[in-house]
Parts: sequence; C-alpha cells; structure tokens
Amino acid sequence: MSAVHPTVLVVEDEPAQREVLGYNLRAEGYEVIAAADGGEAMLCLRESNPDLVLLDWMLPGISGIEVCRQIKMQAAFRHIPVIMISARSEEVDKVRGLETGADDYVVKPYSVAELMARVKSQLRRNRPGAVGERLEFGDLVLEPETHRVFRAGKQLKLGPTEFRLLTTFMEKPGRVWSREQLLDRVWGRDIYVDTRTVDVHIGRLRKALMRHGGGDPIRTVRGAGYALG
Ligand code: CA
Repeated sequence: MSAVHPTVLVVEDEPAQREVLGYNLRAEGYEVIAAADGGEAMLCLRESNPDLVLLDWMLPGISGIEVCRQIKMQAAFRHIPVIMISARSEEVDKVRGLETGADDYVVKPYSVAELMARVKSQLRRNRPGAVGERLEFGDLVLEPETHRVFRAGKQLKLGPTEFRLLTTFMEKPGRVWSREQLLDRVWGRDIYVDTRTVDVHIGRLRKALMRHGGGDPIRTVRGAGYALG
C-alpha cells in the first residue's frame, strides 16, 4: 500500500484473531490489509501486492492450503513469503503445509513475539531494506537505519524520495521496475502522481549517485522501466 513500509496481508476468518494480528503487525511498523476468506485474499493480492501473507489454514470456502497453492502457482505472487497458521500440530500437516510452498509454519496457540520474529525473518529475504538490513551493490552501500548512502566509501546526499527509490532498487538488483510499480512502492498507491514524476526523481538519483564519479548504475529499459545493474 503505502511506500516503503512492508505490507502484510492477514487472511483469517475469526475477527478477534484478525484484530490481534493486525494490531501487533502495525505495532511493528507494517501496513496491514486483511481478508476473511480465500476469495477475498486473492483479490487483495492482486490489488495490493503485499510483501508477506499470514494465512490461516482453516478458512470457510477455499482452504488456506489452496490459497497458498494458488499464490505459489502464479509467477506474479510466487516470491511473496507465506506463513501458514494452523490449529493442528501433526507433523503430516506441517509437511503438507510446506509442500504447498508455504515458507514457514506456526501452530495455534502461538506466541506473538515468535510470530513477529518469523515475519521479520521472512521479510528480511523479500524486503531487506524495509526491515533495516544494510544493502550492498557494487560500490554502493545503503544503511536504512542511519539513512546513509555511500558510493566507493564516500557519503552521498539523497532526498527522501531518491533514498526510497534506491532502497527499492538495491533490494532487488537487476529487477526491471515499471514506472507504475515504482509509483506504488515509493510514493504509495493512495497518492496520485504522474509517471513522469518518476523520471524526474530517477534523474536526481542518477545525478546524486554520480556526484563523486563512477558510472551510471541505473539502467533505462526502453518500454519497460528502470533497473539497478
Ligand atoms: Ca480460521
């Protein structure tokens, strides 16, 4: 949803559970979207492109397992980590959960602290910059915690938008981002910004990155967008 904060999709049919999860995730600084069943979950996936899915096993209609299978079958969603939550602890369930492609598994009743640690651990792989991991690419270093960027050891001055753009690029080097995807990720989808604004900020980012020398690390991919490296 909005900008650089990771978005977590909670799929849980019990309102009280959904509320507790939402509260704790927001306290960790995440954006939260919630779905009460599998159909709604698939809609939320398409609309909000979350960074992680917390998925209850027992759902009315389409089961959590089936939702997980559908997520992992689609190229657009496959990379999104899924943590399954189940009331059943049998090993066989665990195996089935992992065979459907779930990235992790938690049994009810779970400790909230443990679940949050698992969420963070999954996000560290998918959105390292957003959870405060230091990012490196070539001679570039980005420190989310201190908001500092270095190139070949020299600190660079970046505006807040350029910093978010670079974080996005450095989380997935080589990935080509369309202008629309960058708008969603860097500006947030609730804000109306013209796609040309992206070009303006890419220009500023390039200038800042090359200030002390070095080539242009950002690639313009004609008809597609931009990529780092
Ligand atoms: Ca349930």
